[in-house]
Amino acid sequence: MNLSSQKLIAKPIYVPLMSTTSFTKQTPGVTPVEPALTPPSNDAGATAFVKKKLKLGGTKTKKRDIPAGLWTKCPECETMLFDKELDENLKVCMKCQHHFPIGARERIHSLVETCTFEEMDANMISVDVLGFTGAASYKDKLAANWKKTNLKDAVITGIGMIGSHRVALGVMDFSFLGGSMGSVVGEKLTRLIEAGTEKEIPVIIISTSGGARMYEGMFSLMQMAKTCAALGYHAKAKLPYISVLTNPDYAGVMASYASVGDLILAEPKALIGFAGPRVIKDTTQAELPPGFQTAEFLLDHGLIDAIVPRNEMKERLIGYMDFLMAGRKAAAK
Ligand SMILES: [Zn+2]
Repeated sequence: MNLSSQKLIAKPIYVPLMSTTSFTKQTPGVTPVEPALTPPSNDAGATAFVKKKLKLGGTKTKKRDIPAGLWTKCPECETMLFDKELDENLKVCMKCQHHFPIGARERIHSLVETCTFEEMDANMISVDVLGFTGAASYKDKLAANWKKTNLKDAVITGIGMIGSHRVALGVMDFSFLGGSMGSVVGEKLTRLIEAGTEKEIPVIIISTSGGARMYEGMFSLMQMAKTCAALGYHAKAKLPYISVLTNPDYAGVMASYASVGDLILAEPKALIGFAGPRVIKDTTQAELPPGFQTAEFLLDHGLIDAIVPRNEMKERLIGYMDFLMAGRKAAAK
């Protein structure tokens, strides 16, 4: 009777109070019983406890062992993907088509006919002209990246066959210092483009970059003019240049060779821009539209010509080159 009347009078205040007091009243009665029951069976209880712990530990480490290096979780759809299948699918999620980053060598392998790729300037390496020191010196950064990536710099260039087309192909790799464009990237690409002009073949550059390499100061900025000048001569010779933008593609690279293709393609959902969205938002003090700086947004706004999924890239490049080189082939006959 008392309980129900109290509840009726002041529900919100008294109900919790009642429950806690009734709890504390109960526990003193219960607590002395429980510890008194467990200690006598000390040995048996302890061993049982240890055994349980071991079992748990055992299963946990097993579970941890399996995913290491075998499975990758897709950041988009959170599916666990078997690494071997993911590699076979060119690092594209089998469920949601999320494009994972892919190394330059793997990409070249996915595009070029077997044994046709002749790499150019494979051993060209950067020099620390400015004696740059910051949190880490440029020399140390270079040494660490050579070791980490097994690459000499952020681009691989060479000439190979894609379908029936001989192509001057340059592929950037984001894992080397964020795909930054220093003198080596600029020089290797310039030589590639010049080779393309000389051999009268199309140039394809697949880029991914955070921009110019700050460790090289003005030397990295000069690469913008140098690569574009070489592309100018290539264009004058009426040869096609296809630029393929992959995630992410920013700053000095986007402001030079990546955005002057006769045809500009992009991988789905790649982030592409000059300055990053945060900088633009702070400068303009305006809300950015949804999907800002994605490949899809830029396709709608006319910067890029087509979005091509990675596993269709080779086929589509062949199709475009068939079209772009048709006039030239006809003229040659
Ligand atoms: Zn996915």
